[in-house]
Amino acid sequence: MTTTYVLRGARPLGGDAADVVLADGVISQIAAPGTVDVPGGAEVVEIAAEGHVLLPGLVDLHTHLREPGREDAETVASGTRAAAAGGFTAVHAMANTSPVADTAGVVEQVWRLGQEAGWVDVHPVGAVTVGLGGERLAELGAMADSAARVRVFSDDGKCVHDPILMRRALEYVKAFDGVVAQHAQEPRLTEGAQMNEGVVSAEIGLAGWPAVAEEAIIARDVLLAEHVGSRLHVCHLSTAGSVEIVRWAKGRGIDVTAEVTPHHLILTDELARTYDPTYKVNPPLRTAADVEAVREGLADGTIDIVATDHAPHTREDKDCEWGAAAFGMTGLETALSVVQQTMVDTGRLTWADVARVLSANPARIGRIDAGPAAQGRPVAVGEPANLTLVDPAATRAVDGAAQATASGNTPFAGRDLPGRVVATFLRGRATVLDGAPVGPAADTRRLAARGGAR
Ligand SMILES: [Zn+2]
Repeated sequence: MTTTYVLRGARPLGGDAADVVLADGVISQIAAPGTVDVPGGAEVVEIAAEGHVLLPGLVDLHTHLREPGREDAETVASGTRAAAAGGFTAVHAMANTSPVADTAGVVEQVWRLGQEAGWVDVHPVGAVTVGLGGERLAELGAMADSAARVRVFSDDGKCVHDPILMRRALEYVKAFDGVVAQHAQEPRLTEGAQMNEGVVSAEIGLAGWPAVAEEAIIARDVLLAEHVGSRLHVCHLSTAGSVEIVRWAKGRGIDVTAEVTPHHLILTDELARTYDPTYKVNPPLRTAADVEAVREGLADGTIDIVATDHAPHTREDKDCEWGAAAFGMTGLETALSVVQQTMVDTGRLTWADVARVLSANPARIGRIDAGPAAQGRPVAVGEPANLTLVDPAATRAVDGAAQATASGNTPFAGRDLPGRVVATFLRGRATVLDGAPVGPAADTRRLAARGGAR
């Protein structure tokens, strides 16, 4: 017997309050408060959701789960538990594991680990080139045909910088409606680079990473995508110039989509003055003008999605001098709050827009928006009950040690962020309740133990 949930007074996409019933894995009723028919017989759990915003379950197109190979930093189980805590119901797991996810065998392993963990749907990203080596194409077709049904391919962490290989990859993925997600970093222009190239890098003496190293690759790739008539996705765009190039490409009808990370929506290179490697990330934090440009790009639809680039690292890899530290920061458990603070609370996006950039669009780009395990669907009767319930009025102090991720490298430690994920549902099963992850097999028992309703 599955549990039926009744969300009392929730606001679908931030609209009018309604009672929403989740039964048998789907949204079975949405009606004015007090008017739903609660079925008898089944175990029914009521959740007081007055004032809470109900969103489709969030979908991340860019997560590093680190398994296989770096289970000391994160595992599929710990990373997907963090994802559920952050309101996600699906993540795309990047290929830069050890071994690299460049064969059907490795992507199926990651996909199975995700199923066993049960927190969110895990969609492995396949490597574009063998071993991320940038020299020959990986088995793209075999990964697409595998049980994991890979549709997103990326050498993320590295740029597919050889234009011939990039062209072949773009041509190849057309056969199965796949997409190449490019980590745009011209390698020669960024040799030894440690942070954004600009006033701050000059003043503090760290090697600079020029905006043009990102923009040159994006410009080349949108032209390649146009030439071969293929779909291109730009990972973690971070500069004002990159926004302009994508805007130009879309205006020209090129089939390009782009993502921005939460941290590039709020943090700047001024933080490098602390020499705290928590703020060392790839691409680097940019200037305040770049932050404003990516916010504007997200608001006007030039940038299609927010993706976390959740990049967990062990203390050994982060608690060292800046030059020796690994690039990356965690993000799954703070992404929605950062988007609320920078885009919703500033009036630049509505909650319906948030559903678009954090759920519908990433699901569509990853081609997981149809079929029995569809994600990113509307909040409507008959749709799969992949849902996130958010209390936008709550404020919380971020504590890296208290997060579900196995790594503590959050750049928001000690900060107060708005919004709190109260509950997450994966096909009608609660993965988070009262703001805390609940084990996939344990939800019914735990609820019974605490008397069911609250
Ligand atoms: Zn990357």
